[in-house]
This record gives sequence, structure tokens and C-alpha cells, in this order.
Amino acid sequence: MSAPAPRADGPVRALAVEPRAQRVEVVSRPAPRVRAGHDVLLRPLEVGLCGTDRQLLSFEHGAPPPDDDWLVLGHEALCEVVDAGDAVEAFAPGDLVVPLVRRPCDDPACTPCREGRQDFCRTGGYRERGIDGAQGFLIERTLDDDRYLVPLPEALRPVGVLTEPLTIAEKALDQIDAVQRRLPDSCLRDARGTCLALVLGAGPVALLGALALRHRGFETVVYSRGDADRPESRWAVEVGARYVCSRETPPERLAEAVGEAHVVYEATGAAGFAFDVLTHALGANGVFVFTGIPGGDAAGDLEEGPLMSDLVLRNQIALGTVNASRADYERAVADLGAFETRWPGKLAQLLSTRHPLDDWKAAFEGAADPVKSVIAPGAGRSRSRRSAGRPGGAQPPP
Ligand code: BGC
Repeated sequence: MSAPAPRADGPVRALAVEPRAQRVEVVSRPAPRVRAGHDVLLRPLEVGLCGTDRQLLSFEHGAPPPDDDWLVLGHEALCEVVDAGDAVEAFAPGDLVVPLVRRPCDDPACTPCREGRQDFCRTGGYRERGIDGAQGFLIERTLDDDRYLVPLPEALRPVGVLTEPLTIAEKALDQIDAVQRRLPDSCLRDARGTCLALVLGAGPVALLGALALRHRGFETVVYSRGDADRPESRWAVEVGARYVCSRETPPERLAEAVGEAHVVYEATGAAGFAFDVLTHALGANGVFVFTGIPGGDAAGDLEEGPLMSDLVLRNQIALGTVNASRADYERAVADLGAFETRWPGKLAQLLSTRHPLDDWKAAFEGAADPVKSVIAPGAGRSRSRRSAGRPGGAQPPP
């Protein structure tokens, strides 16, 4: 079912929110055209949906660019190059690319932004495509700058939309490597002994994190609310992780059941649950990485005294991480290839449906599933295809 491509010069359709009027609509926008040397005209093929998009849809987060009332959604994108300006050397029409989400602030004194590390922007003046101050990729065609595009090999087309959510784990692992260089005997550093990683949650970010940890040799436990016979729990076991249900083994009994963790990769946004695990299951010299933005979940049993005393007496580190650098994207692309070789077909099982733009409501309902919903902005007005199978069931892109 291939996309009836929009006319090159005709208006293009996009899924956008108007936060001021609290509206969500498929809107029409003028056709973008290559004008500057570094411009690249893109056709977004697939755009994944995540919790951030759900927050945008309910107007809890994000903002349109200053000169527009509407914010075009979509930041987890896989795109095809359609046209490129004179200064673009790395890309040609037909190439696949994954765009970086965050763009640097304008402050000359912001060293991270000036050095291409806008994921560590100090001023808060950064822009994020499809989230904050910059238009996203849920549109039939869009322009970008070649400096923010990462190439994706054609062989990874069916799973390339998972690049951006995997960058979260890539940046987290990079941070873990950096902070654990403090240790004289880290199993993280010299691969001696067995390193236990706990992954909190069983959504796409968590499961991709579990793959990245497994791939680096961690003994990995996925710890979440769902029963052990749910598809995502079985998926975790099939890639060599252990699955533990938090309703059967609560945080205070977790260390007894699986051992103390060297690393915890949090991907739930459930603050009470996360702090309970931090208090009860992080081992000496361990590092706890928060990636989720908390919603209104139930409070945990946080006791600040014992937590603080463990952080001090057991040399623990808790860190938060957001967004990712170009190097993290490049590692994510390389890892997607490595995962496909090592666990053939497992990545595709994380992608459940590919909806046309007009089916955005159904796509967002699907986004509550443990597997990722995807919108194919060029897929016309046809009915979405639903695939059978476990979690998600593999399905070729249009
Ligand atoms: C995106 C990040 C972004 C963050 C905060 C996440 O969903 O993956 O790129 O920095 O939201 O807006």
C-alpha cells in the first residue's frame, strides 16, 4: 500500500495542535522548498508516538514556534531525502535519514550548544522539533538542515523509526560509562564479574534499553507491573532478560529475589515506584538513571533519611538524562543493525501498527500499548492495517 505522494508544489498535510485554542487537527501547510545550501527536503516515512506526544495532545507540554499558533507534532522520525541544497554533500535523494530532535539555543555563551551538545543545553533556550518551538515530522514533507540528519542504512528501513527512542538508552549508557570510571573495579569498565542491570517498565523505551544492556553483556532484569505471561514480558525473556512482576515481588523484596543492581535504567515515569526501587534494590557503587517524566502516579514509601544515607555510605549515584547527541544517534543506528543480527525479528515486534495521518486518533489509542504506534504521514487516507501477533507482530512499512 504505497503512499500517493503529495504533488511536489501542492500544500502538504500535517497533524498539529493549537495549544491556545486546545485544538488538534490535520492541517494544510504550504509546500516546503529547498532554498539554502544546507537545506534538505524530507519525506517523513514513519513517525513513532510516545508519552511526550500524548502530553502534547493534552496540551500539558510543548509550544509552537513563536511565529505560529500551531505546533506540528512528531519527533521520532524516519525520513527519505527528496531534494538537497548545493552545500549538502552527505545525502542524495532516496537516502534514509533520522533527524535529531533538539536544536541548539542562540546564546553564544552556551558551550554545550556551541559544541553540538545541545542535549546538555544550559540556557533552556533550545528548540525540539515536534515538541518545543520547532515544527515536527508528522507532515507529508518538511525541510531540515543536513547538519542535524543521521544516515540510516536501507537494510534498517523496517525498524529505523526505533532509532530515536533507542538514543535514550545510548545516552544513558554513555553517562553510566562516564560516571563509573570513578571505580577501581567496575564490572562496567573491565567486563569482569557479572553486572546486574534492572530495567524499570516494559514499554518501548524500557525494552530497547533492555536490548542495549543485554547486548553489552549485562545480566538484565525487566521489572514492571504486568504479568509474566504478557507479550512484552515474554519478549524480554526471549532476548535473554529475566522478567519480574512488581505486583508479585514488590521493590522491598526485589534485591532478595534477583540481587542488588549495579545499574537501574528507569523508563516508567512512575516516581513513587522509581524511588522505592532506588531505596531498596540499588547496590553499593551503583548508578540509577532516570529517563521518565513523572505523571500523577501513586506516591511510594520514600524515606529520605535511609535513601540519603545509602547514597553517601554506598557511593551511589542517581542521574537524570534527557535527549541525545549525534554520537548517541550514530550508536543507536549501529546497535539497531547489531540487534537485528543477534535477535532477528525482535525489533519489528515492537512496532504494532502503521496508521495514515487521518487515523491519528487510533494511533494514539495504540500508543498506550506496550508497543509503539507509528504514523506514516505519506500513507494517504486509507484505513490503517492492524497486524496480528505478539507484541505488535512484525509488519513491513508502506
Ligand atoms: C524526546 C526527547 C526530548 C524529551 C523532552 C522525549 O520524548 O525523546 O528528545 O528531549 O522528550 O522534550
